[in-house]
Amino acid sequence: MAKKNEILSRKLRMGMVGGGPTAFIGEVHRKAIRLDGEIELVAGAFDIDPKQSRKMGRMLYLPKKRAYNTYQDMIAGELALPVGERIDFVSITTPNSSHFPIAKAFLEAGFHVVCEKPMTMDVKEAVKLKEIVKKTRKIFMLTHTYTGFPMVKLAKDLVADGKLGKVHKVIVQYHQGWLMRALEKSGQQQAAWRTDPKQAGAAGCMGDIGTHAANLAEYVSGLSIKELCADLTPFVKGRKLDDDGNVLLHFNKGAKGVLTASQVQVGHDNDLAIWVYGENGSLEWHQEHPNQLLVKPIDAPKEIWERGNGYVEAASPAAAKNSRLPGGHPEAYIEAFANLYMRAGEAIRARVAGKKADPLSLDFPTVTDGVSGMKFIEAVVKSKGKWTKIK
Ligand code: NAD
Repeated sequence: MAKKNEILSRKLRMGMVGGGPTAFIGEVHRKAIRLDGEIELVAGAFDIDPKQSRKMGRMLYLPKKRAYNTYQDMIAGELALPVGERIDFVSITTPNSSHFPIAKAFLEAGFHVVCEKPMTMDVKEAVKLKEIVKKTRKIFMLTHTYTGFPMVKLAKDLVADGKLGKVHKVIVQYHQGWLMRALEKSGQQQAAWRTDPKQAGAAGCMGDIGTHAANLAEYVSGLSIKELCADLTPFVKGRKLDDDGNVLLHFNKGAKGVLTASQVQVGHDNDLAIWVYGENGSLEWHQEHPNQLLVKPIDAPKEIWERGNGYVEAASPAAAKNSRLPGGHPEAYIEAFANLYMRAGEAIRARVAGKKADPLSLDFPTVTDGVSGMKFIEAVVKSKGKWTKIK
């Protein structure tokens, strides 16, 4: 879209779909891109209600003509601009049911795409989207946020470097309690679509946060889930989709594990945590204390690794690249999103300029992770207590 080398000497231009005045995650994305000053938001179709989209445009001080009524108007409007003014990529932060049509339309119009998870409504759409990404040769980044944390990258590198020896067990959990009340009945926006199969997809809690846990387990361990046995429950009366689930996992290379995800575990906020066990030691990371990684060698005292220290950077170039502050000044959720945007931005610049991207720049979740996530969701819903293969 943009000219070859000019993309190397300016900020990347982003458009956003979703993220209206009452939305949750769109504003987090906007805060994340402001952190490094490499990307500017120049256009958007921010809300399903065109009036709210225009209002959001005013709140963001955008020119009137770039706060569009619909995403289709945004594609037409951006294509009508001179090449040097158009967006380079779009960020999709709408509920799950619209990810596929919006991503497809922007890719086919020639734009790179950042997309929220779960990627699509089913495996069929996910596979189709992967084909479209391949055909259009565009960068596609899926915002599995937790892979953007530096200490998660350190954990991945320690496992890959053999610090734990052969991994035989992975435990991962994502526990929340905010849906114990039927908030959807009072019209609470974020609860309403998450509990509606037409907007959320085949799974509730498992699609919303179980996929994050599955992605984290595969990313850190370097293994992939090959079969699972799941027990999903909607505990809140009248709910059509699960708000809780317990899953046994079989990974490749003989490793086994357990994944639990819940939005009705009262007392938990965003309690995502992972434990990886190998023959020579284990490690442990908690999202609510993200600047520390616990490493427990089999025959030595427990170690607390703290982000921002030279020994972390020496062990993991990826942790170093995705860290901004010295140790003791905490980094967390917004920085993790910013890391995903920084890496995808570097990949977009390299792709447009026809240059080879640094391998560390390509360390972000892609359409392939999106396909895995949809296969995970399909299998946990299908399982109903029986072992179910993931192909
Ligand atoms: P939300 O309801 O708060 O916001 C959704 C926004 O999208 C609203 O402004 C809505 O009007 C707008 N919208 C809906 N359809 C649209 C359309 N066709 N065109 C333009 N705008 C449209 O939802 P949310 O909680 O922000 O979640 C949005 C997405 O982000 C979901 O897919 C969710 O799974 C994902 N999410 C990811 C994370 C993460 O950590 N990566 C966290 C929360 C949510």
